[in-house]
Amino acid sequence: MDVHCSTCGEPWDVFHLWEDAIVETGLSVGEANAWRSLPQSQKLSDHYRKEFQAAGWEFGQTVTNVVRCPSCPKNAHANPDRVDTKAALEELFGDDQDGLATTFEDYHL
Ligand SMILES: [Zn+2]
Repeated sequence: MDVHCSTCGEPWDVFHLWEDAIVETGLSVGEANAWRSLPQSQKLSDHYRKEFQAAGWEFGQTVTNVVRCPSCPKNAHANPDRVDTKAALEELFGDDQDGLATTFEDYHL
């Protein structure tokens, strides 16, 4: 399943976001492994958001919702309609990351 960056439209495979994107941060292998087993609600704590941001990633409430990605042009801005739509869907699906990813894919979000 692919979801798209809200800023540049780049498609990202959700399994990459769920499993591999953490490895692109400055975290150690041990920390990255620990991150994978965290509950969804703790995966984007301030600490991890900072690590992701340093690697070019910006997410909504979950890593399925890509707001900015490492492929984004430096001065590009997120599409506000896309950000709002994805935030509303994210709210609706709650912890159901599969459902959210499927819906994003269906609507090319
Ligand atoms: Zn992007």
